[in-house]
Amino acid sequence: MSVGPREAAGNQAVVVRVAGPTATIAVDGRELEARLRPRVPGGPAVAGDRVELVDGGEEPLVVGVAPRRTVLRRGDGHDRRPRAVVANADVVLVVAAVRDPPIRPPLIDRYLVAAEDGDMDAALLLTKADLPHEDAAVAELAGRYRGIGYPVLCGSAKDPAFVERVRDLIGGRVAVLAGHSGVGKSTLTRGLTGVERAVGEVSGKARTGRHTTTDPRLIPLIGGGAVVDTAGVRTFHLPRMERADLEAGFPEIARAAHGCRFRGCAHDGDAGCAVEGAVHPERLESYRRMLADLR
Ligand code: GDP
Ligand code: ZN
Repeated sequence: MSVGPREAAGNQAVVVRVAGPTATIAVDGRELEARLRPRVPGGPAVAGDRVELVDGGEEPLVVGVAPRRTVLRRGDGHDRRPRAVVANADVVLVVAAVRDPPIRPPLIDRYLVAAEDGDMDAALLLTKADLPHEDAAVAELAGRYRGIGYPVLCGSAKDPAFVERVRDLIGGRVAVLAGHSGVGKSTLTRGLTGVERAVGEVSGKARTGRHTTTDPRLIPLIGGGAVVDTAGVRTFHLPRMERADLEAGFPEIARAAHGCRFRGCAHDGDAGCAVEGAVHPERLESYRRMLADLR
């Protein structure tokens, strides 16, 4: 099968998943395997990218990546070089379980900063609420994030009614499910799409050796939008960013900062800082840790 550049024009070719040197591409409701040209302009391509395809002989060839509207990026290596994980998503759904594994607010906060940095909306999904858990602590956490402005849903990923609330929240957008492993991302993905996540699935035609992949995968939703499961993303470090961008990722800190005595206050114990006391201590602690990492 071959897809000419004309057919791929008009941003119709979307990367579903990348697996080493190949990618699954959705074109006009069909999926096909394509080869990725190394060092492609605008690349490397990731799930959600709009790409340009040309006839590559046996398989179509990805030769260009369109400018991204949004991008979820992580930091790679000790210098945390920015690396795209998902492109052109609208909203990051940060998934955390009320227990097993325990909630890690700093990880939630890192994803929220990454969402803001990548120009996406964000919401928090608290799963496993069907298991015995500390109600008061979970209610406090939910209230904390709602108070900042993030939508928060709490329920069981196995409960179809909860899945429908998540679907309503997505509302036809492209949503990235992000969070620690074991929190219910694949369970939600399955509930929303009916598609099983296949970890370590052999992808592509495996001509160039068997290539297993746990890369993010974009799955369309009936009625519009899509879900991107990042289940294979094991750790999540923020990319390097400016302090102003970090502050923007903490909207309540950015708001309180208007009251700081000095412009450019780092809210790190500085004189006349209005943030301390106005912001939840755990959020401030998260911010300060990320700030220290910028240095
Ligand atoms: P992922 O690693 O984030 O994709 O998490 P999974 O969807 O694979 O879920 C990890 C385990 O937790 C599986 O055994 C799921 O069946 C279970 N699980 C996920 N969500 C819930 C939930 O809301 N309630 C309960 N009781 N179990 C859940
Ligand atoms: Zn301050």
